[in-house]
Amino acid sequence: MPGENSSNFITDIIDVHNESARFAGRVHTRFPPEPNGYLHIGHAKSICLNFGIAERYGGLCNLRFDDTNPAKEEQEYIDAITEDVRWLGYQWQDRVYFASDYFDQLYDMAVELIRIGRAYVDELSPEQIREYRGTLNEPGRESPYRNRPVEENLALFEKMRAGGFQEGEAVLRAKIDMSSGNINMRDPVMYRILDTPHPRTGGKWKIYPMYDFAHGQSDSIEEITHSICTLEYEDHRPLYDWYLDNIEIYHPQQIEFARLNLSHTVLSKRKLIRLVEEGYVRGWDDPRLPTIAGLRRRGYTPAAIRDFCEEVGVGKVKGVVALHKLEYHIRQDLNKTAPRVMAVINPLKVVITNYPDDQAELMQAINNPEDESAGTRQVPFSKVLYIERDDFMEDPPRKFFRLAPGREVRLRYAYFIICTDVIKDADGNIVELRCTYDPATRGGAAPDGRRVKATLHWVSAPHAVQAEARLYDTLFSEEYPENDRDKDFTAFVNPDSLRVVDPIYVEPHVETAQPGDRFQFERLAYFVVDEEATAEKLVFNRTVTLRDQWRKAQRKGGQPAKRKRRRKAPQR
Ligand code: ATP
Ligand code: MG
Repeated sequence: MPGENSSNFITDIIDVHNESARFAGRVHTRFPPEPNGYLHIGHAKSICLNFGIAERYGGLCNLRFDDTNPAKEEQEYIDAITEDVRWLGYQWQDRVYFASDYFDQLYDMAVELIRIGRAYVDELSPEQIREYRGTLNEPGRESPYRNRPVEENLALFEKMRAGGFQEGEAVLRAKIDMSSGNINMRDPVMYRILDTPHPRTGGKWKIYPMYDFAHGQSDSIEEITHSICTLEYEDHRPLYDWYLDNIEIYHPQQIEFARLNLSHTVLSKRKLIRLVEEGYVRGWDDPRLPTIAGLRRRGYTPAAIRDFCEEVGVGKVKGVVALHKLEYHIRQDLNKTAPRVMAVINPLKVVITNYPDDQAELMQAINNPEDESAGTRQVPFSKVLYIERDDFMEDPPRKFFRLAPGREVRLRYAYFIICTDVIKDADGNIVELRCTYDPATRGGAAPDGRRVKATLHWVSAPHAVQAEARLYDTLFSEEYPENDRDKDFTAFVNPDSLRVVDPIYVEPHVETAQPGDRFQFERLAYFVVDEEATAEKLVFNRTVTLRDQWRKAQRKGGQPAKRKRRRKAPQR
């Protein structure tokens, strides 16, 4: 099981409850997704929080589908959510529930509120209800139907249930306070008519409870102790409490925390649906999306996502977390676990002129320098190789230490080579390098102790596996794509968020790789085999790049010198 959450303001509240035995020391949480889309990284935070807290206190956490709106909910989403929560590493044993399982009980509770004079059937139109509700500055007005006798309300509510009204003709409302400063308390709607079959209850119901009427009572029925939700529901808490107090049933504690926002993306199902339906991405599991399914296909691990959620923590202050924090955690994880292979994405052909034409050698390579138990493998070397085009410059600037004419570098696990000739096509483009190798440097070290400043990765051309690489960049080119008042967020979709390179050349070790297998392509990035890979053609998704070595070198070149000077300066 994944690790527990560390302390936060919610565990502080729970500790106080436990000291006063408010819930007899019990801790029982729930994760309550609405099955109207796929889960995203924000939901992961809620999942880690709810399941993590239960684990910390030796309590329980339920999975509850909040399926009160059949117009937007689908079985596909229920299945996807179930898979995603399980994939993240959490278990709910037999405690998977559906708000729709409680429709009969909720109906009875509504009848109870009518009986005690605290709910009524309103026949104002939806527009009128909105108009009568008032605004933040103006109190609402009471509906002319508000003071109907109990018997009439009971009969009309029964008529609503039996399908005697069309959609929009009647609603059941709680009778609270039309002048409340909290608009949620101005006679909120409890039930509306929806002539839509429900994925689970079919055509049984013509009326469906609103979120606020269903949620607290579902928590109560399941004997949840701490009902953790996001800050938007803070203003709903008085209503949450009002229903439970007036129905007079067991009363959990609602606690709100700040939802997770992430830079360079959007985290709202409404917006994610648009990206999917309007074709900006290839589906809910597109590796560019911040959905759990997308992150999984991108090569993220459950551990990296959980570590990220743990790092961002829980608080009451809204903010946006930088995407690089998420990337940091997947790098950390994959650095420890992903086997290394050599692959060339942007190839430049290298011919080793003094290497025998038909010879091939197997070079021993380390699978994972961070994990000795991962062992070694054999990588074929031959006369014709590919190196990365960026690893050669004909006229290198001062800080460029990689291959250049007349310069010696190391080919990882193989030999030292020197570039002797640069072959160009008629337009002056470099098409091939001629190099010589030093047979005495086999394995990558010179017996005379001479050193080189760069080690390059390479692939033997005749042995290489050709594959497709999908190189992803951020889905949005803006850090905060939702912040522009005049433009729709889709205006900021990054046109270069996916670049397909086909073929790339990979060492033959990957030949038997299966979808989901993760690798580090040395010096480039982490990759995962996509589910669209076939026996004939491997497809790799780039999970995350390594830090750019060239830029790092540039920075190093500039800074330490300055620091040195400062250190030498006399102390004052
Ligand atoms: P969205 O705005 O993405 O549609 P939602 O809140 O409508 O999200 P639900 O399915 O109702 O989606 O959410 C299930 C649970 O996940 C709720 O408890 C909700 O508060 C929580 N949750 C949703 N989005 C986030 C987020 N960005 N950060 C943390 N928790 C979230
Ligand atoms: Mg919701």
